[in-house]
Amino acid sequence: MKERQIGHLMSHYYAPRGRERMYNLGMQLAQLYLSPSDKIIGIIGESGSGKSALIHGMFPGLDLTNDDDGVYVRPLPLLNLDGGYFTPHTYHLDIRFENGFTQMSRLAEAIAEAVHRGKRVVIEHFDLVYPLLGAKADILIGVGEEVVITRPSIFGPEPEEIKDIVYKSLPYRLMAHTAEDLCEIFIPEEDLDRESHDDIKHGFVISFPYKPTFSIKEIEAKVHEMIAQKLPIAYVDEGHISIGGNIQPCSGPRVHVSNTGLVEDFHLLYHFIHDKFNDRYLMVGCVGKENLEKLRALEERMERNMKFEEIDQMDPFANQMGGMGGMGGFGGFGGNDWIF
Ligand SMILES: [Zn+2]
Repeated sequence: MKERQIGHLMSHYYAPRGRERMYNLGMQLAQLYLSPSDKIIGIIGESGSGKSALIHGMFPGLDLTNDDDGVYVRPLPLLNLDGGYFTPHTYHLDIRFENGFTQMSRLAEAIAEAVHRGKRVVIEHFDLVYPLLGAKADILIGVGEEVVITRPSIFGPEPEEIKDIVYKSLPYRLMAHTAEDLCEIFIPEEDLDRESHDDIKHGFVISFPYKPTFSIKEIEAKVHEMIAQKLPIAYVDEGHISIGGNIQPCSGPRVHVSNTGLVEDFHLLYHFIHDKFNDRYLMVGCVGKENLEKLRALEERMERNMKFEEIDQMDPFANQMGGMGGMGGFGGFGGNDWIF
């Protein structure tokens, strides 16, 4: 069967906040990239990156053999291909986990045999078994701060390359999500009720359908206090985490750093950005050293744009000027190299 993407190299998506949106991304990836003839699906990413949710979204109904809730399917169906009259079409295994029980070469053999019988195998931590497998993945997916998907040719990309990308970027996602949760503690409840979330690289966006009146600087200062206190963060259940012992709702409870002190170089943009195309107000935060400069540059640009907007309002012919100085408002934001 002819593959659906010809000449496709690699696609990047923001790894979304929360399980529901990860399911959705998985469904979208399956529709766009998956072909019925794909036999080896390699997944690469640290634990806690959301691989399971992505797999659930891509392959609804597939029984994962390493459920995060501690349910392990034994014996591993893949190692028991002749096991019964009804054998599945799609197998799943987590190489890192299974290697605790079974030799890597045995796992590689089982995968090869299943593929030989026309089965599909979804393989977590694919990079570990790849050197023994003697076959490339039909589809390779990495999960870190972003989700990358590629259909490798014999020239690559290699699993190690995908691993490099997503292992390096995951800490930013954990820090950004944690910083976002810390901000939410101090956002007044009535504003919190109407917020929604957007993605940017190395940071987060909380948007409101109106301009809130709380002080962003104050929130930043309070969050810095919590970071300085180095409070432990723990998973409670699928909808909650605890920060320093206080239970708080969270839609992605496994995607945090383990301690508030691990959030590095957190900053907020001190103005709400008016996204005039959607008429909403955005609060923007970032983590990581190199991003502060970008945030400040964005802020300067915002201030310039605000001046243009004032001129716009004074002089009906000044629209051309607004056009020259970037598009004003959100247009200027979109052009910033902070968001690659
Ligand atoms: Zn959270």
